[in-house]
Amino acid sequence: MTYVPVVGLEVHLQLKTASKIFCGCPTTFGAPPNSQVCPVCLGFPGVLPVLNRQVLALGIRVALALTCRISPRIVFHRKNYFYPDLPKSFQISQYDLPLGNDGFVELAERKIRIRRAHLEEDAGKLIHGEDHSLVDFNRTGVPLLEIVTEPDLASPEEAHLYLKTLKGILEYLEVSDCDMEKGSLRCDTNVSLKAAGSAADSLGTKVEVKNLNSFRAVARALAYEIRRQAQVLDEGGRVAQETRLWDDAAGATQAMRSKEYAHDYRYFPEPDLVPFTVSAEEIESVRRALPELPRAKAQRFVSRYGLSLADSKALTASKGTADYYEACVKGQPAKGKGLANWILGELAREMNERNLESIGQLSFPPESLLELLELIDSGRISGKMAKELFAQCLQSGRRPAELAKEKGLSQVADRSILEEAARAVIQEHSQAAADYRTGKGQALMFLVGQLMRRTQGAASPAVSQEILRELLLEEKR
Ligand code: ADP
Ligand code: MG
Ligand code: ZN
Repeated sequence: MTYVPVVGLEVHLQLKTASKIFCGCPTTFGAPPNSQVCPVCLGFPGVLPVLNRQVLALGIRVALALTCRISPRIVFHRKNYFYPDLPKSFQISQYDLPLGNDGFVELAERKIRIRRAHLEEDAGKLIHGEDHSLVDFNRTGVPLLEIVTEPDLASPEEAHLYLKTLKGILEYLEVSDCDMEKGSLRCDTNVSLKAAGSAADSLGTKVEVKNLNSFRAVARALAYEIRRQAQVLDEGGRVAQETRLWDDAAGATQAMRSKEYAHDYRYFPEPDLVPFTVSAEEIESVRRALPELPRAKAQRFVSRYGLSLADSKALTASKGTADYYEACVKGQPAKGKGLANWILGELAREMNERNLESIGQLSFPPESLLELLELIDSGRISGKMAKELFAQCLQSGRRPAELAKEKGLSQVADRSILEEAARAVIQEHSQAAADYRTGKGQALMFLVGQLMRRTQGAASPAVSQEILRELLLEEKR
């Protein structure tokens, strides 16, 4: 039987604030365990939470960028459950009135609908030893925004693309470190199968997969689940509604807990946080402050710099690369295409090889790339030499022009370029070439002069003479 996979994603994003969502404790990552806690985030009796305004501002910023409608009324709820990393035995979250709802993220050809984006506080972190477990409460009360899609994703690849696109938007917004390793971006995925050809709005039983530590893990876990569920169905079984854990080393998911009966979290309005309204003006002022987002930037790159859409998308996928490109092209609009080729070619390759997150870590500032292109365009060095020079610049952290000068780099070193120029000279001055071939020796000196002029003095007289003589004699034969 053929099945169609249906996928929905839940992303937890840590909002970048100096202090926690309901108290003044710092949010610094990596501090000694339980050094960033107070009676409020430890849930002592009688304490009162106070909402951090910056959390609200950042949350609205993200929700607007995802084209969500912003709830004018801000209400928090208590989500009650017991777990050792949750000292209050409830999490302050949002329930029926999420901060934002009904948005979308545009992928290449499809819109993925965002069901809701809501604010909540993080729980603590359990550290398991062999015969004991420890708990670190530094993370309790760290602000999170949970971003939930509709079940609109159709494949592991599309889920991966969605996550990359979402992360790109979030990075542009500068609202979070978006670092999965530090837990500032976490992701759970939901997946079900339905028979091919069944109604568009029908849904199979879903499985939730947790413990996904990278976007790659999300895609792998989904591929695994799709195979597993298909097998269950093919064998006449039914998929159990449950939560499963991804084991990256084993490349498989394992059942964690059954979700047959939905948790009863006994949500009720948080009595210690009075509901309030956000004015339309406040929302508008956040909207006005939104930066240009990746999609819009890619379109602008196409029209302003004459790049292909594919190149523009590649350049704008990360804000660092887009900014780098614009810093380069600012004074040199005519070189837009050449700059894009270098950034997406050599620079991207180096970043890949060194496993660098951002182009800024390359120690090759925009001025250096401009210098390098200038060396090539003026004919002083060949493309091949430029690549070598680039590698030397990265190694030494020095600038191309300076290094080229010091090394006496010029096209003399690259014979094929000189030969090409020499052929052009011979063709342009066919009379002098003919003269030389019929024995007029001094015609060669004229051609040497022309070749040196053409290469702006990069070719030495001796080498120029040698190459021209060879070519002229070769053609004579
Ligand atoms: P829960 O109550 O278990 O958290 P939700 O209805 O809130 O479930 O949905 C959580 C996520 O699961 C959303 O991203 C949603 O799009 C996705 N989802 C819901 N139903 C399905 C399904 N049948 N198949 C795949 N994904 C689903
Ligand atoms: Mg949920
Ligand atoms: Zn605190």
